[in-house]
Amino acid sequence: MSLQNFITGLPKAELHVHHVGSASPRIVSELAARHPDAGVPSDLERLREFFTFRDFAHFIEVYLSVVDLVRTPEDIRLLTYEVAREMAEGQNLRYAELTCTPYTSVIRGIAIEAYTEAIEDARVAAERDFGLVLRWVYDIPGESGLPAADATLSYALEHRTDALVGFGLGGPEIGVPRAQFQPHFEAARAAGLHSVPHAGETTGPDTVWDSLRLLGAERIGHGTSSAQDPALLAHLADTGVVLEVCPTSNLATRAVDRIEEHPLRAFVDAGVSVTINSDDPPMFATTLNHDYEVAASLLGLDERGVADLAKAAVTASFAPDDVKTRIAAEIDAYAAGA
Ligand SMILES: [Zn+2]
Repeated sequence: MSLQNFITGLPKAELHVHHVGSASPRIVSELAARHPDAGVPSDLERLREFFTFRDFAHFIEVYLSVVDLVRTPEDIRLLTYEVAREMAEGQNLRYAELTCTPYTSVIRGIAIEAYTEAIEDARVAAERDFGLVLRWVYDIPGESGLPAADATLSYALEHRTDALVGFGLGGPEIGVPRAQFQPHFEAARAAGLHSVPHAGETTGPDTVWDSLRLLGAERIGHGTSSAQDPALLAHLADTGVVLEVCPTSNLATRAVDRIEEHPLRAFVDAGVSVTINSDDPPMFATTLNHDYEVAASLLGLDERGVADLAKAAVTASFAPDDVKTRIAAEIDAYAAGA
């Protein structure tokens, strides 16, 4: 079996993947057909062209056009359920922590109660129909500042579902200091949510330090620039804080110039725990399977090494213990039989 086929069949868990950012051309086509006035093509060929990654500005354009198509609770339900279908059927995912940004839907007129009901309805259906266990991370869109942070915290605490496991922070890092969100993360953590902010994707290691010291980060989204600071790498290794590495995304956004320059190898050599993730896969023209292939190539992994990488994601997840045990056993059984 080729390593590519091994990866395709490997049961997996994913920890860093965005809700709207996972909408494939097929899903966008369904949403566009429901809202013809939005001006987004529903023709699949034209949509594939629209989705062909050009640069970061184009990514933002595609992302916002999808955000604009999600207008009703039924759109949210459809998006979530169909994303789950593609995760299970295409990437052989058994578990995913999906990062949702409820703020962008609420300001477009969907009440948080209806939003929560829609994602929960899709979650239950996805587990029943596809055997995929979903959990949520709510993230603050950093560019929208404190009003978004206050609102996101209130969604997390006052409209909480049992499936909400994490509290995050996304959007641009430049010009968005982490310290302002410290009270929000303190409150979320006090309520038992895990701290999983993005950091060190487009700024230096100081942002990662701030996320550790001020936001109590248990995992870091990306953390790419940590490689520039040996003391930070040693600290991450000592404390067991996990990096959610998204190789293709980092290349697409120019966080790294060439994939050969990606610091994944440096992280592993420093003893830092890493997981492999796809971030916004259709928009970065990737899949989780492809990102595993990239990681295998960067790290020189064989089948067992790739299986161990998949198990690292299970270990670093906030899945219930019985789900972790089941998926880890499934990975081992698959690797043994391959
Ligand atoms: Zn992300």
